[in-house]
Amino acid sequence: MRVLKFGGSSLASAERFRQVADIIKDKSQSSKVAIVVSAPQGVTNHLVAMAENTNDQEKLVTDLGHFKRAITTIIDDLSASIPEFKSQHCEQALINYEHQLERFMQGTNLLSYCPDHIRARIISTGERLSVAILDSVLQSSDIQVSLLSPENFLFTNDSSLNAVADLVLSKEKFNNEYDKLNQVSLMPGFIGISVKKDGSEGQVTTLGRNGSDYSAAVLAVCLQAECCEIWTDVDGVYNADPRMIKEAKLLDYLSYQEAMELSYFGASVLHPKTIGPIAQYHIACLIKNTSNPAAPGTLISNENDQQKRVKAISNLDDLTMVNVSGPGMKGMVGMASRVFATMSRENVSMVLISQSSSEYCISFCIHSKDEHQAEQSLKEEFELELLNGLLEPIALKSELSIVSLVGDGMHHQRGVAAKFFSSLAQASVNVVAIAQDSSERSISVVIEQHKCIAAMKVSHQNFFSHKPAIDIFLVGCGVVGSELIAQISRQQKSLKEQNVALKVYGIANSKGMVFDENGIDLENWQSAMTKGAENNQALPVSAENLKAFVREHHLINPVLVDSTSNEALAMSYVDYLAEGFHVVTPNKKSNTDSWEYYQELRSTAQKTNRRFLYETTVGAGLPVIDTLQNLIKAGDELQRFEGILSGSLSYIFGKLDEGMSLSEATAIAKENGFTEPDPRDDLSGMDVARKLLIMAREAGMPLEISDINIESVLPNDFDDSGDVNEFMSNLSKLDGDISARCAAAKAEGKVLRYIGNIVDGKCKVSIDEVDSSHPLYSVKEGENALAIHSRYYQPLPFVLRGYGAGAAVTAAGVFGDILRTLTWEQQH
Ligand code: ADP
Ligand code: ASP
Ligand code: MG
Repeated sequence: MRVLKFGGSSLASAERFRQVADIIKDKSQSSKVAIVVSAPQGVTNHLVAMAENTNDQEKLVTDLGHFKRAITTIIDDLSASIPEFKSQHCEQALINYEHQLERFMQGTNLLSYCPDHIRARIISTGERLSVAILDSVLQSSDIQVSLLSPENFLFTNDSSLNAVADLVLSKEKFNNEYDKLNQVSLMPGFIGISVKKDGSEGQVTTLGRNGSDYSAAVLAVCLQAECCEIWTDVDGVYNADPRMIKEAKLLDYLSYQEAMELSYFGASVLHPKTIGPIAQYHIACLIKNTSNPAAPGTLISNENDQQKRVKAISNLDDLTMVNVSGPGMKGMVGMASRVFATMSRENVSMVLISQSSSEYCISFCIHSKDEHQAEQSLKEEFELELLNGLLEPIALKSELSIVSLVGDGMHHQRGVAAKFFSSLAQASVNVVAIAQDSSERSISVVIEQHKCIAAMKVSHQNFFSHKPAIDIFLVGCGVVGSELIAQISRQQKSLKEQNVALKVYGIANSKGMVFDENGIDLENWQSAMTKGAENNQALPVSAENLKAFVREHHLINPVLVDSTSNEALAMSYVDYLAEGFHVVTPNKKSNTDSWEYYQELRSTAQKTNRRFLYETTVGAGLPVIDTLQNLIKAGDELQRFEGILSGSLSYIFGKLDEGMSLSEATAIAKENGFTEPDPRDDLSGMDVARKLLIMAREAGMPLEISDINIESVLPNDFDDSGDVNEFMSNLSKLDGDISARCAAAKAEGKVLRYIGNIVDGKCKVSIDEVDSSHPLYSVKEGENALAIHSRYYQPLPFVLRGYGAGAAVTAAGVFGDILRTLTWEQQH
């Protein structure tokens, strides 16, 4: 004998009923089968609404209408598609149940109250109609069915809406039925009957929402079935709710205990009470897909696949945490038992309990629907203690979720909890409470509900899919920005092969940011920008707008990439870091603002566990910052520094050696993308000064930009006003002086170089004359060279040399930083 339970999703339409009938026909060839059915999907919700609104006539009529329409649509569609289908039987059943519902409604209307046992009868009507319809469908294929009535044997306690079955009594009552059953028998799920104290039969009960799974398990015990099959709308149990986690993987096997933990902590594919009976009687349970019967499904049994691992992750929403605390709790025997007894008396189920070792506080989670009742009853129970200040006011915190990691193999495994908690930190999730029982089969955390999806996604990613994501928002698509887009576009495929999902969700130019929830197609990003602007879809770049997008689409590793030289954006990095963004930038403005802001950036990044990466602010793609940071971390000390820090000035001064004029060399450097968008930033020495300040601060010197002694290439009396073009045409006025200075140096066998140096804690940027023995003599053509003299590196300095400007190397450096946002993930 096998028990087959078909859930509401498997009975949602006429087509589904036909699929179910086909499965029954097939299965009944080889074994007797007992079928348990739910109400067609959605029907119970209409019935529940009716039971809750007995005083609202208008609403009642609407809900009754919805209920009738759902059933008649199925009956009509079956009549149209199965010639032998006799609809009268089901139509008559619908009329009878409708009359019954109306009578209940009249009664409850008069009473202005719907007693729970009546409510149970109302909300279980859908199951009875499913039986009537499926019976007719099977009869149309000449399959004779035995109808099983749960009122005859499925005994429960008298909790009308969330009853628990009495397995021993139910089994005993059923005892002699087996031989009388046809090859196929049929029973409505969800329904039981209460036993009175005197042993006599009581009222109809229901087994809790989603409870038909439980009915099937009880029937399987009564029939001593070899297997209890739960047919639903997914291929089996996944390692996370597949609606929430697209990458969720199907599990072939689960132990009873694992299934129990998962269903208890929210995996709605199985009602939590289902596993108890079948585990107790060692009945295998198979989860199958009605729409894909060929799929093997998930087998739940005593077997385990023996692998030491975390199996799955689940979430349970709509919870409230209750805190009972105060000096009166400490060491007082019986306090905990009074709290628990109060909840039990009120029939409030406690989902999770945690107590601090100081015994000052007991916290527990309940379903939010019970919070009012819980609060009231605790206030009554502890009235005296509350009055005397032995207890603090009962505190409730709602809109919480529990996320649980489940797996038999977690037993004795080290590092699981650590990985779980750092995953939560990565998702910027604050943990409200924690629970792990000593079987080590599950670890559960209580978190704020609005963070649940992010917590699930990151944990799933770190434990199962190992597919880290990088979600980019790029501001600025000038020379570096557009080169970066081209590089990302070329690399996207190979990163995907390495399991890194890197997508650009937003690109901004001066008109605003254009978003795409699927990631912008980088081969056609310009047209996406144009279209976005035309359709007024470009939004201002702000932490709020970006955060709203990240929240709506549950992105877990958002990275703000700023490839502008915009000051206002640089000054808002702290907001982005605070909102959970990593920030990657070649923009020097943020690191060269006040020392205070410099420190705020770092402390915010640390607090929110986000990275602030700016390798390309000095030496473009050269690994300057990283090297310096590592040296300092290793206890080194910067003693002296000198270098050519500007690619454009390296190029321009190199060209001066060759006899080119300043204005011509600057124009070519600008064209090659070596200069800042405004070459005045380079020639004024400001750009080099900023880089020098960044180096100095990295080495621990709390300097400000005003502390840097700058010799500008542009003399004080030079008129550098106007726009970039005006400036460029004015620049030739300096050609004569600079060429003369260059020629004078040359006469002494020297060249002019624009050098930044740090000596004795002082920073200076100046045009220096150096001879051929000087290491910077040969540095030109856009190259940078940096000599770090330190405690470890002496007498020879640590030298870094290579192209320090240009779109390709800068974009590659930024790309490198973007990928470094992942190392944090991988370390944890
Ligand atoms: P039925 O109508 O068959 O009783 P349910 O809606 O009660 O179906 O349960 C099936 C649903 O459970 C699936 O559609 C799926 O969205 C959800 N679910 C939640 N967690 C899991 C999980 N870990 N594995 C599979 N399904 C899950
Ligand atoms: N029909 C009931 C419900 O919707 C029972 C079930 O589907 O299992 O809760
Ligand atoms: Mg279900």
